[in-house]
Amino acid sequence: MYKKLIQWSLKEFSHLPWRKKRSLYTTLVSEIMLQQTTVSTVLKHYPDFIKKYPTVKSLAKLSEEEICVAWKGLGYYRRARNLRKAVIEIDKKGKFPKTLEELKEIPGIGDYTASALLAMGKDEEAMAIDANLERVLARIYGIKEKKGPKLHKKIREVVGKDLSSFSAREVNEALMDLGRVYCQARKADCLICPMKSKCVATKKNPLEYPEPLKAKGATKYYELHLARFVVIHQNKVLGVIRDEDKWLSGQVEIPTFILNSEDKDLDQYPRLRKTKIATADGVIKSSITKYRITNSFWVVTKAEFEAISGTSKGYKYFMLDRQKGNFSTTTLKILKKVLGDN
Ligand code: SF4
Repeated sequence: MYKKLIQWSLKEFSHLPWRKKRSLYTTLVSEIMLQQTTVSTVLKHYPDFIKKYPTVKSLAKLSEEEICVAWKGLGYYRRARNLRKAVIEIDKKGKFPKTLEELKEIPGIGDYTASALLAMGKDEEAMAIDANLERVLARIYGIKEKKGPKLHKKIREVVGKDLSSFSAREVNEALMDLGRVYCQARKADCLICPMKSKCVATKKNPLEYPEPLKAKGATKYYELHLARFVVIHQNKVLGVIRDEDKWLSGQVEIPTFILNSEDKDLDQYPRLRKTKIATADGVIKSSITKYRITNSFWVVTKAEFEAISGTSKGYKYFMLDRQKGNFSTTTLKILKKVLGDN
């Protein structure tokens, strides 16, 4: 059933660095990187990351701030913090857990990652079902069920024994490759797909599998006006690392305040009490989740900043190293406007 697909995957993708040389640790790192990030982006960062942190112990030594800096360019920093929690716990245990249940007890490792570790890391029978596998298997077997746990259960029942006669590692990776290359959410290239002679959905409309969840109502967007302050002193810039429960958690932002928000419940930033300030030095637009943001920024001294905001408590200076510092994208854009490319 999957022979041709596996042959294609081995031929095209065996060169990926996390497939060439693997251990449970490298599988953990690569799997967490690959969740929500494309292969091409992970390819740019994984080799250096593994070279710098080749073992559980070397990564477990990093502080939260250090791992977020090492994670730069991969986005979704919550994953970096989860990876850190996982390696700290594994390091404490002194060995990598070996069963699905033991793996799931490690903070930061959920059902998908635990299954991926067994299948890809140890080549043991397991199915790492994410949105990709859910989609391709629903199409191959023609399972018309809504996305979610019910569909996963059905997939395991229907597909399990077909997969068990192949290497768990090879078949899981081949199905992932299929979902990434030919059998995408909005496009199915059935004519050139290695599964076309076996696939049920190719004779119908592949895009109808699996059944989409009910469309949510149109997203309401909120206008948000922020005041941001650039305080530079001796090649350092005043900033704050965002907490875990905030947007951009783990990243550094320059002091930021709400000037005006359509969403009155927003508590990401404090409100600026003193609103009568000089004309802004510049404005840039950005957006995040449901907010369309106008960022006005001012370049001020620390004393001026304290006079405007009331205090500089909670902020500290960060080295103005835009390559190595873990600054948020908007902070970097503002720094570029202020300092140019230097
Ligand atoms: S034949 Fe088409 S629908 Fe079936 S797995 Fe391949 S790309 Fe997907």
